[in-house]
Amino acid sequence: MAALRTPAAQRAGAVLFVDLAAVADNWRAMAALAKGAECGAVVKADGYGLGAVPTSRALYAAGARTFFVADIAGGVRLRAALPGDARIAVLHGVPPGAGAEIAAERLTPILNTLGDIQRWREEAARLGRPLPCFVHIDTGMNRLGLEAAELDRLAADPGTLLQGLEVQAWMSHLACADDPGNPMTAEQLGRFRAALARLPKAPASLANSAGVFHGAGYHFNLVRPGIALHGANPAPWMPNPMRPTIRLLARIHQVRMVEPGRTVGYDATHRVAGKRKVAALGMGYADGYPWSLQGKGQVMVGGHRAPIIARVSMDLLTVDVTDVPARFLAEGDWAEVIGPHRTVDQVAAEAGTIGYEVLTRLGPRYHREYLGPA
Ligand SMILES: *Cc1c(COP(=O)(O)O)cnc(C)c1O
Repeated sequence: MAALRTPAAQRAGAVLFVDLAAVADNWRAMAALAKGAECGAVVKADGYGLGAVPTSRALYAAGARTFFVADIAGGVRLRAALPGDARIAVLHGVPPGAGAEIAAERLTPILNTLGDIQRWREEAARLGRPLPCFVHIDTGMNRLGLEAAELDRLAADPGTLLQGLEVQAWMSHLACADDPGNPMTAEQLGRFRAALARLPKAPASLANSAGVFHGAGYHFNLVRPGIALHGANPAPWMPNPMRPTIRLLARIHQVRMVEPGRTVGYDATHRVAGKRKVAALGMGYADGYPWSLQGKGQVMVGGHRAPIIARVSMDLLTVDVTDVPARFLAEGDWAEVIGPHRTVDQVAAEAGTIGYEVLTRLGPRYHREYLGPA
């Protein structure tokens, strides 16, 4: 592939391909599922590890206008990268002292506490103009969002507490949407509807990726898919309906023959029975590849499977390439670590974690190649 022969790729130990066309397609698929509602894009954690600026630009080109980030720094980066009509919502509210920057950057804070509401109201008063916000109401997650007593106070006097604020959405978040058998999802829907009935009229937003699959009753006015856009399975009860968005290739730094009975790697955990050919690849746990994956999974080299063996090192991974023809094993050739043969969800299952963590830990040392629409 030509992209692997650029100078930037040739000095890297591993290359991460991010398919922006797939990200955009995934957004279109979620927008179609939630038609009638606006489809936002959650791009926190630097776009689930894929790079929030390039993915958000592709999502904007596909039609997304509301973007969700976790913190102000993420919002500031997006504000500089996106056209002015993009709405950038910040999930973690208005920390004390941060109101002026949030307003100056035209970010839309998601207010999680009465304290957030007060600080944003004071900022609106200071600036002498209305400020936009979302208000997050907890419906059972018990993480962020107004508690029951705070909701009571808000519902009793919204005119005073929200003075100078434009509530663009009442919002809540589902705890168990990826488990279709869990009754908590419907309970949260009930609590959300009950809260909305007590509050001034405004758009509403409840569903994350998995929530979108629970049907129109969960869509309200705005849906908030994250993981689905980034290609891991948002609905684990069925085959992944999304397009994969990444491929990860690691360079073959060295190939050697290992004599029968000898060991490979730290702690000598892997002993070869017969004579084996072993390759060292240019990525490791410092790149976010889990150390727990020692001896698990396979890479593809020239269309042939090669099992991963021995400890994962900081910057290296070893694979048994005995069955790979020598013409694919020159120094500098490439092995595919994540790709069609081994998805993000498979890597997560092998490591005892979730696709979200595999994606968000994709390391900054990988040379990144963005494919598809800019
Ligand atoms: C992360 C997050 C989302 C997106 O969740 P996915 O499961 O990735 O779709 C939506 N809403 C809130 C409040 C979130 O924190």
